[in-house]
Amino acid sequence: EMQASDRYLADLNPGQREAVTFGIPAGAAPAPPLLVIAGAGTGKTTTLAHRVARLVMHGADPGRILLLTFSRRAADEMRRRVAAILDQAAGDAGRGLEWAGTFHATGRRVLSIYAAQAGLEGGVSVLDRADAADLLDLVRADLDLVGDMRRFPRKATCLQIYSAAVNGVLPLAELLAQRFPWCAEWEAQLKRLFGAYVEAKQHQAALDLDDLLLWWERLMQEPALAAHVGNRFDHVLVDEYQDTNPVQQRILLALKPDGAGVTAVGDDAQAIYSFRGASVRNILDFPKAFVPPAAILALSANYRSTQPILDAAGAVIGLRHEGFAKALEAVRPGGVKPVIALLRDDIAQALYVVRRILENREAGTRLNDQAVLFRTGQHSAALELELTRRGIPFVKWGGLRFLDAAHVKDLLALLRWSRNLKDRVAGMRSLQLLPGIGPGTAKRLMTALEVKGDPASLASIVVPPAARPHWPGFVGMMADLVQDPAWPGDLVRLRDFLEPRLPELYEGGQSRVQDLDQLAALAERHADAEAFLAEMVLDPPELTGDQAGPPSLDEEQLVLSTIHSAKGQEWRSVFVLNCVDGCIPSDLAVGSAADIEEERRLFYVAMTRAKDELELLQPERFFILQQAARGDRHVRAIRTRFIPDRLLRFFTRRNEHPWRGADAPASALPRLDVKADLRRMWAE
Ligand code: ATP
Ligand code: MG
Repeated sequence: EMQASDRYLADLNPGQREAVTFGIPAGAAPAPPLLVIAGAGTGKTTTLAHRVARLVMHGADPGRILLLTFSRRAADEMRRRVAAILDQAAGDAGRGLEWAGTFHATGRRVLSIYAAQAGLEGGVSVLDRADAADLLDLVRADLDLVGDMRRFPRKATCLQIYSAAVNGVLPLAELLAQRFPWCAEWEAQLKRLFGAYVEAKQHQAALDLDDLLLWWERLMQEPALAAHVGNRFDHVLVDEYQDTNPVQQRILLALKPDGAGVTAVGDDAQAIYSFRGASVRNILDFPKAFVPPAAILALSANYRSTQPILDAAGAVIGLRHEGFAKALEAVRPGGVKPVIALLRDDIAQALYVVRRILENREAGTRLNDQAVLFRTGQHSAALELELTRRGIPFVKWGGLRFLDAAHVKDLLALLRWSRNLKDRVAGMRSLQLLPGIGPGTAKRLMTALEVKGDPASLASIVVPPAARPHWPGFVGMMADLVQDPAWPGDLVRLRDFLEPRLPELYEGGQSRVQDLDQLAALAERHADAEAFLAEMVLDPPELTGDQAGPPSLDEEQLVLSTIHSAKGQEWRSVFVLNCVDGCIPSDLAVGSAADIEEERRLFYVAMTRAKDELELLQPERFFILQQAARGDRHVRAIRTRFIPDRLLRFFTRRNEHPWRGADAPASALPRLDVKADLRRMWAE
């Protein structure tokens, strides 16, 4: 029997209702630990939102609920959903869920609250992945690891190895043997490099993204601190638990050692972040982490997709070597089989997708209820060109972001350097904005600054002739900013410094000026430079169709997304680009069998985003991609190995080949009497 106040539960199925109400209320005590493990689209996220709402309805203080999601977007969405449920049920829009965000963003907040305990009082720079790779490079040059070792792994690979080691809590040798066997010969050098990298970060008061977790986890090792942080929260709820890594799991266990108030939801078939150290083991081991063990609930009805889509996705994931395929039952009736469309090349693919999207829009599916997914950022190049040409608004998730644009990085580096003179990556970048100053001079200047400590003192240093006219002004400005910081005024001042330099530094000045203006506008929304800079790293704005800064949210636009960034999302129509070997699975990842399994799960995640229509695109050749790779070979592509012939019955194949039918034998065609025709012209 349902009470009137429980009407918000009426839309849920019995399994979901059980998950929402499990242990609430049980007097005043937080519920025992709960794990909901269930397939795509079964309502895990929905259930989590209802559970949060129920907690609040039963008296939980929303300010003491910690909600951990995989992206900022997911956190915002969760806030909105909880507010909607509360609004409907209790006529109370729900006071803020102040602690909803990613593990990383939450880590940054915790570290700023406990800065003194962590030894970070002076403030810190947060480095994004590119900055971190640059710093690794600087450190490597210092160590003289470059010269005789041409085959040493690239900087991106070094960072990947470092990141996997710290997030996976694995000894380097073991990690190399398991996942990077071709780098094993460099173990000793990598160890030295990573040691120096850690020292450099500490010396420069810089934290990379992994540090936001590592430092947090360190704090939690001290029992008094763990208790203090843990006591801020009565309830901790985690979405997408299958993609947490061992460091995150340790943090969670330290926050709530007995599991009281802990809820986690996830799907082991959708684990796609092992390259960041996430481990499927985490979700499988979760129940046993507590005494008594966590309760496990499962959900099996899928509310998102139609049955033919689920059957196809289920067949694909069913071929994986480990784990159990879970058949998903569609709640919604009907539906059509997913399409595999065969196209001549990636340009034909782009034209086809645009045509299909416009047809869908004609038929009533809005642009923002359609999405195009791909394995990596560059795969959408041809499509982006075509969308821009046709004036179709789109936003791109993942891949290249607003912040990756060089001039945007320049402005942020200037600001970061003014806030933390020890930040070498920011300093090197800022100095090289002046004409005549290259890496060598910049390095010399950074060393001088380190000795003297005050930017004003740099004025007397001799710089290359081209830089001289700008030098006193630049040094004076930096000294001012350091001595007397003002927010957001400083960003405006740095923008005014950078703007006249743009034409010399880059082509295409005007749109770059607009980007800087956008950045200044974004700055106004933040209380101080540190919060602004951290936010830009943790949740950077995304590139929109005209590439002119952050998107306006209310505009109806098509979503282009990497599959990774599409996690947890859904659209009526989903197009997956380049369903061919080399792209899916990516040949960047074809190392071990475990890599292939992860790529298969990734493909499964892509397929299960679709509600009504799923089209997998199979270009036979690559044109733009080949150009990007500077290859002039015509590479023939073959269908992804994740759809072997025996699975074709789950799909409809469409041959969009433009020369379709042209190969009928000529002998079957009508015969003409051309001679007679030509004679007749003159016979009259
Ligand atoms: P994923 O594994 O992709 O993260 P999920 O398990 O989190 O999926 P949700 O995103 O919560 O699934 O739900 C999928 C869709 O089903 C959403 O559109 C949601 O609104 C809808 N849905 C979930 N439960 C119900 C229900 N009981 N009645 C109607 N719709 C539902
Ligand atoms: Mg979800």
